[in-house]
Amino acid sequence: MEKIFEQRIFRTIKNYGLVENGDKICVALSGGKDSACALFLLKKYAEKNKINCEIKALHLNLGIKGFEKMVELCEAQANLAGVKLYVFDAKSYGIDVEELSVKKKRPVCSVCGVVKRYLLNKLARELACNKLATGHNMDDFLVFFFKNLLSKNYCWIAKFRPKTGSPHEKIICRIRPLFFVGNRETEILCERNGIPYSESACVYSKSSAIIRKRENWYRMLYSFERLQKDFRYLLAQSVAEMSRFFEKTCKEEFKECKLCGEPTSQEVCGFCKLTKT
Ligand code: SF4
Ligand code: ZN
Repeated sequence: MEKIFEQRIFRTIKNYGLVENGDKICVALSGGKDSACALFLLKKYAEKNKINCEIKALHLNLGIKGFEKMVELCEAQANLAGVKLYVFDAKSYGIDVEELSVKKKRPVCSVCGVVKRYLLNKLARELACNKLATGHNMDDFLVFFFKNLLSKNYCWIAKFRPKTGSPHEKIICRIRPLFFVGNRETEILCERNGIPYSESACVYSKSSAIIRKRENWYRMLYSFERLQKDFRYLLAQSVAEMSRFFEKTCKEEFKECKLCGEPTSQEVCGFCKLTKT
C-alpha cells in the first residue's frame, strides 16, 4: 500500500518539476507527520534519481507551550532524512504569538498563520533557497477548496496545485509534494518508513475553533470517499487543473511593505500590522 502512495508522490514531484538540478530546497518542519513525510520523500526522490540539489530543513519554534519538544523531534526527523536542520526561535526575535493574539484580540491560530507564512518565506530566502516545501496535504487543499468555493473566494483556488510560481522576486516558489496524498496516506507512509512524529504538534490544535471546523471538513471528505472510491484523489486532480483557469483571471499585484520591505499586496504587510502597529 505505501508503495502506491510513495509512487504517487514521486509522480507529483516529477510531473510538476518539484525537484530539479541546481535546486536549493527548504522544507518547513513542524514535528508533525506531514512535513516529516514531505522531507523524507523529497530526499529519497532526489537520491534515487541522482538529482544534484540541496535540501535543508527549517523549524520555527513559535514559543507556544509544548513546542520545545518539537525541536528534538524535528532533529530526529532531519537526521533520519540526512539533512541539516535550522531552528528559528521566534521569541528570541521578540515575536510572541500568544501575546500578539491577546493584544490584537485575534484567535491564536490566525496570528500563528500570518507569522508562519511571513517568516517561512523570509527565512527560506535568507537560507539562499529557491523553493520552499510545505507539508500541506491533499485533505488540507480539498478543505481550503470547499471553503473558498462556498465563500466565493475563487482567486485562492488559483494557488491550489503542487507548485506555484514566484509572483515577486522576494516570494519563494512553493512546492507541495503531498498534494495528492491525504492524512490517512501520510500516516501510513510515516509508520512504514519508521519516521517519528508527534500527533498533537500544538496545544491549540484541540481547542481551536479553526482546527475543529477543519476536522469536520475532513469527516465530510472521508464520508464521500466511503461512497465513491478515490473521491479525494480524483477531486484533487480536478482542483489542480481548475487552478490554471483561475490563475489566468486572478493576477495579484505585489509591492514591498513600506515598513519591512517584504512582499505584500497592501501598503503594510499582515505581519507588520500585527507586530508594529
Ligand atoms: Fe499554530 Fe497550528 Fe498551533 Fe494553531 S494549532 S497555534 S495554527 S501551530
Ligand atoms: Zn511588513
